Amino acid sequence: MNAWSLLTIPKEQRGHKGNDGYQDSIPHFYSFDSTVANSSKISTGDIVAPRTAHQIIGLSVVEAVHRQPGTKERHRCPSCGSTKIGYRKTQERPWRCQVCKHEFTHRTSETIEITKYRIEYHSRWKPFSPPIPVATFDDIYVTNAKQQSIRRLDLAKLTMLPAASPFFLGARPTEPRTP
Ligand SMILES: [Zn+2]
Repeated sequence: MNAWSLLTIPKEQRGHKGNDGYQDSIPHFYSFDSTVANSSKISTGDIVAPRTAHQIIGLSVVEAVHRQPGTKERHRCPSCGSTKIGYRKTQERPWRCQVCKHEFTHRTSETIEITKYRIEYHSRWKPFSPPIPVATFDDIYVTNAKQQSIRRLDLAKLTMLPAASPFFLGARPTEPRTP
């Protein structure tokens, strides 16, 4: 069993336009595709911690992993081929490459074959109340790959996190106190 944090960025906040964005519903499911690092490693029974750029929203257990072949448009810088390109609404040449700094009007586009994934985890969903800051996980991540949307967590350390104890204790009722 592994544990993962799953980054969701609201569509309007995405500066990185190399991909066409994912439809996510944080308490229910998470969708991604095979171009995402660690995409093929999530299994039924794994623990997931959905998060935004600033907060970790809750914890749950993966109950289903759906896979489906598909295609997606990939957009690149016409000069160096990088997918790290940003859109600037007000500019005459709105696209700018974050790697080679080239500015341009039209992206180079291609259709690639991918596997689409959708993982479901609604039944064991337990939100943190309130959500906890993302820095709480700094020492819990297995690697320092901050750019990854799906990041592996150290399960033993996650279990020790005080905010996570209601999740790991399950729905156990509290003992009535004897006077
Ligand atoms: Zn470039």
